[in-house]
Amino acid sequence: MKILGTAATPLVWAATGESISKDDAPVWCAYTGQSEEEIRQWGWLDALHPDDREQVMQTLSCAIAAKRTFSIICRLRRYDGAYYPFRVQGIPLLNNDGSLQGWIFLFADVSKQAAIEDEDQENRQLYRTVFEQATVGIVCLALDGHILRANQQFCRITGYAQEELAALSMWDLAFSEDLESSFQIGYDLLIGQAPARTLRRRFMRKDGTTLWVRLTVALMRTPSDEPAYFVFIFEDISERVAAEEEHARLLEREQAARMEAVARTQQLEAIFESMADGVLVFDAEGNIIQSNTALRKLLQMDRFVESFKLPLHQRVNLFELRDEDGQPLPEDQWPIMRILHGESLQGKNAVDTLTHQLDGRDLLLNQAGAPVRDQDNRIIGGVLVFRDVTERRQLERRIKKAFTTLLTLAEEVVRIPDEIGKLSPEEQPLNSIRAVGQRLVELTSHVLECRFASITLVEPGSERLILIARVGFPLEDKEWIAQEVEQSTLSDYLEPETIEHLRANEVVIRDVAQAPLVRRSDYNLGNLLIAPMIAGEQLVGVLALEKRSSAQGYTEEEIALAKAIAKLAHLVIERERLQQEWLAARASQLALEETNRRFDEFLGIAGHELRTPLTTIKGNIQLALRRLQALKRQESGDEAALGSKLEKIDRPLHYAEHRVNVQNRMISDLLDVSRIQAGKFTLVMRSCNLTEIVREAVEDQRYANPDHAIILEISEAGEKAQVIADEDRIGQVIHNYLSNALKYSPVDLPIIVRVEREGEALRVSVQDKGPGLPIEEQKHIWERFYRAKGVKAQNSSGTMGMGLGLHICRTIIEYHHGSVGVQSSPGKGSTFWFSLPLAPRTAPGAHADAT
Ligand code: ADP
Repeated sequence: MKILGTAATPLVWAATGESISKDDAPVWCAYTGQSEEEIRQWGWLDALHPDDREQVMQTLSCAIAAKRTFSIICRLRRYDGAYYPFRVQGIPLLNNDGSLQGWIFLFADVSKQAAIEDEDQENRQLYRTVFEQATVGIVCLALDGHILRANQQFCRITGYAQEELAALSMWDLAFSEDLESSFQIGYDLLIGQAPARTLRRRFMRKDGTTLWVRLTVALMRTPSDEPAYFVFIFEDISERVAAEEEHARLLEREQAARMEAVARTQQLEAIFESMADGVLVFDAEGNIIQSNTALRKLLQMDRFVESFKLPLHQRVNLFELRDEDGQPLPEDQWPIMRILHGESLQGKNAVDTLTHQLDGRDLLLNQAGAPVRDQDNRIIGGVLVFRDVTERRQLERRIKKAFTTLLTLAEEVVRIPDEIGKLSPEEQPLNSIRAVGQRLVELTSHVLECRFASITLVEPGSERLILIARVGFPLEDKEWIAQEVEQSTLSDYLEPETIEHLRANEVVIRDVAQAPLVRRSDYNLGNLLIAPMIAGEQLVGVLALEKRSSAQGYTEEEIALAKAIAKLAHLVIERERLQQEWLAARASQLALEETNRRFDEFLGIAGHELRTPLTTIKGNIQLALRRLQALKRQESGDEAALGSKLEKIDRPLHYAEHRVNVQNRMISDLLDVSRIQAGKFTLVMRSCNLTEIVREAVEDQRYANPDHAIILEISEAGEKAQVIADEDRIGQVIHNYLSNALKYSPVDLPIIVRVEREGEALRVSVQDKGPGLPIEEQKHIWERFYRAKGVKAQNSSGTMGMGLGLHICRTIIEYHHGSVGVQSSPGKGSTFWFSLPLAPRTAPGAHADAT
């Protein structure tokens, strides 16, 4: 340190400070380059740095006022104009009364000391700034770990306030698991093993979360190299650690994803290879990039390697692509071309193409596929999936054909096959069913390519089997197989469970080779398919078949088809049966109608042909008789001789008249029957007295049969009773009853005719003492053309009738809403009767037609 003046005599000023003492002026002037003149009257102040002058003056003033020493640093200009700092210390010299005598000023050059202090200060400031502003946390720890100081950043990253930290040790913030290694580090530093350590460590924030830091630990020592304290520098790397962790996680995930992708790829490749469909992957030019085993096998790619290396057009041309109908496919319709043009051939758009394979096979291939595009949506190739549908289509076609054929057959059956018509009528019903059944099994056998097929009916109730048709058995065995089957029931062949399935309308497939039928068949049957024929709830038959390739089982289509055929077979057979029944019924009805028609025709002709000449004959006979009477009256001379002559002519004439009447009666009956049959039988109804009609008829018969007694008994109630009736027709009935009684009973036994009231009806009966009729005959005598056996006419004039009279009588009475009957027993005679309802009392005479 340089002092102006000497140590013993420092620069001294005058009392007031205005001037410098004489002794000291040369020192001042020598240093400052001021002349002694210039330093007078505060002129020395000019040697001070202009910025410091005021401060110096004020300090002086204050010190004078306070009468105290002062110390101040100010800059003093050297003679060469450079300023250097000087510590100015002022010591006031006081008089005894306390007044200022003067000053002693000490100017010590502190330019060097100031530099050191400045550096110190600067260092301290730097240190403070670094400590406080550092972006890392800095904490000073006592050797026991107590926190001595911590910077703001440390507070920020740990979440603690300064004051809180003062009460904590660093170990409070550490994880217990890390304590041991922390102590070890401290120990290493203390024994001088290492000057500082940097490590990654975690601490606990105030809020309990983990703080990851890059920690630098250093040991500070005293100048005498004693350990003073630890400095911990915390660089918060939580984010980095989190990022690292995230990165690690991502890495792990990426690895997992990559492994999965590899596994997937392998899996896909395995699927690709094991797919049943052929898969082809191709580039934008249609060159093959990849193909799977199925495709290689399907297209025989390994055999024709070179062909598959050909460019697209040449290659596809080899396969002669055609559509399903065999028409060549134009290039732009090739599936691969369509895909390369951006079309997707999926679902319904998949194409069936006929292909000619390189080994000569013709295959129908179903081709589906789609283009493959890059990120810019450009087509870079495609995938085609090939499926061989040759067999499936064949089967579909077969089934379609089968259904069409079945339909055709059904239509044919409706038109009653001719050959059935050629069978004899007794044979027809079952044989026509057999013929239809046979056609069905033949068809089934053809369609399903059967080794054997049969239709067997199950008779309801008895469960007996009726073998209707079969194919696949040698002809010579036909008879005995039919016999054997027809002596059996279904349960002789099948177990109850199988029969139950059939009853539930389920198709049963029985591997006879594995589980034989209940009754063994001598035929080498294999896998049988048995389809039920169900009517309502009942099992009425079975269709059994075995296709040639039965070992491979039956497809769903075949099962469905068999079921449909069984159903159709049942319908067709049932229809055939009904048709046969109907035909039989129709035939007998037609025959009956024909008989009736011919008979009616005959009656019509007979009536006309016979009646006309009879009328003429009758007219002539009557004329002849009248003339004879007249002759008898005129020629009265030789009376006796003439009388006997005339008698001879008269009797045959009467007889002839009687015969004509009988004939006439018969013809009338025939005509009546004909009218009844034709629905043309009419009545003329009016109110009339029945007793009168009876009486007239009895009179007529008495007149015609004078030898046979006819007794008429009329009850009082019957006498006046009125009925509404056709008088002639009712008369005809009474005539008929009477002429039968006269005809069939002996002439000496009387006939009794009665008219009686019976409730609201009048009953007329004719009782004879003839042969009588057994009960069985009584039922039939009212039928047309029926004549009781063993009943003979009793008198010569009675001729055998045609069995029509009673039929006409019953019809007439029924047309009158009345009833007829007979009471008779053999040997005791018969009473034929009829009754008619009484006319309503108020009823006026009516005239009506009844048909
Ligand atoms: P027919 O013209 O044959 O007499 P009918 O229809 O009048 O026809 O009678 C049918 C049959 O009934 C006769 O053939 C006869 O066998 C029997 N019959 C009818 N009346 C009598 C009777 N009074 N006594 C016994 N048999 C009779």
